[in-house]
Amino acid sequence: MNANAGYAHRLNDDGTFDSICLLCYHTVTTAPSEPELVFGEAQHLCPPTAAWRRRSFENSLRQPTPSTRETASETLGTNAEER
Ligand SMILES: [Zn+2]
Repeated sequence: MNANAGYAHRLNDDGTFDSICLLCYHTVTTAPSEPELVFGEAQHLCPPTAAWRRRSFENSLRQPTPSTRETASETLGTNAEER
């Protein structure tokens, strides 16, 4: 199974292939064979909202809000005692 820089290819149970955009996680196209996925990939544009959502998610990992930090410290608290 090959994946170029921007798309992951998935073999379906029925023998067709899906191409999934690694930026917005949309299923870009489905084709009966893997080489045909490039036609759909060439036409794909990520929805602006999807790109924004991903950026926002990545920012939230770097700068946790008080509520997520509370949840994380609860989880880490149990692990820290074991170490
Ligand atoms: Zn996309």
